[in-house]
Amino acid sequence: MLKYIISTIFVFVATIAFAQEVDSLAIERIDTLQSETKVDGCKGERVAPIRTLGQVAVIDTLSTPNSAISVLLFNDNTWRYLLAEDFRNDTTVFNDHWDTSTPYVFGDVDQNSLPEATPIRLVDSLKSYHYPHLGVITSRYGPRKGRQHQGLDIALKTGTPIYATFDGKVRFSKSSGHYGNLVIIRHCNGLETWHAHLSECSVEAGDWVVAGQQIGLGGSTGRSTGPHLHFEVRYRGQSFDPERIIDFKTGELRREELLLKRRHFSIYAKYEQDFEDEIEAEKQEEAERKAAEAIQYHTVRSGDTLSAIARKYGTTVNKICQLNNIKSTTILSLGKKLRVR
Ligand SMILES: [Zn+2]
Repeated sequence: MLKYIISTIFVFVATIAFAQEVDSLAIERIDTLQSETKVDGCKGERVAPIRTLGQVAVIDTLSTPNSAISVLLFNDNTWRYLLAEDFRNDTTVFNDHWDTSTPYVFGDVDQNSLPEATPIRLVDSLKSYHYPHLGVITSRYGPRKGRQHQGLDIALKTGTPIYATFDGKVRFSKSSGHYGNLVIIRHCNGLETWHAHLSECSVEAGDWVVAGQQIGLGGSTGRSTGPHLHFEVRYRGQSFDPERIIDFKTGELRREELLLKRRHFSIYAKYEQDFEDEIEAEKQEEAERKAAEAIQYHTVRSGDTLSAIARKYGTTVNKICQLNNIKSTTILSLGKKLRVR
């Protein structure tokens, strides 16, 4: 009996010690990531890609004080967070419009029924992100020779590994018409990433994958004129320009949160074009702000006359009359606010 009590106490103490160790690891990890992230200069922070999972093996999974998150330990003494299995199975995003037999499951969702703007958290405290593949972009999102090109083409050599962009669950993994071998991953934030023309799919529908995990090999299956990755990002079936979220030059995630607007689902809504529009809109807002700042009012006091007010503010009676839609003969009531500029 005594032996049992002692061993129970030992296990209890060891558990506390271990939990603390994991906790301090967590703090260290978050600090490192924060120092790695760069400010975009525009909105939110850029996120550097996480390491790929090609060479390492998982040796243990540990629980954390947050029941939704566990820690994966690898055989090279590194680790990363993982969304706990119970939590994954519980999430409606992996139950709603879930069909592993066809790529197209949101046929009943009308584009116009979606909100004007949807904030989408691209990375959470798990901080998991990896580009799918980096290389020369051979075709961008947008109209192409009378067809709609709903993704981005990136050149590659057949057999190049393709990686999961975020953690998520494989919804579709097999050959599908002109897409060739296609892997679709649904992510916790509701986005789906589509990877087409693969020479090989390395995952099966229903598998849970983590960012940076190899999900297939690049190729030229389906309607394709040479080896490349056709990469799409969709939200409730609607595609938008993948360059909105990933900077394919650096491999970084452009920001931690995306404000996905309904107009982004248009095949003509290219990220670069949109960026220019936004700069133009910012200039316009700045001009309006300056104009608003320049407006000045005068509160009419006893003895005030329009000519005296005009002199005081270095303007003319006519100008004040115009701004306030009054005549020079209008009697000024005490306390009235007159716009003078
Ligand atoms: Zn393509």
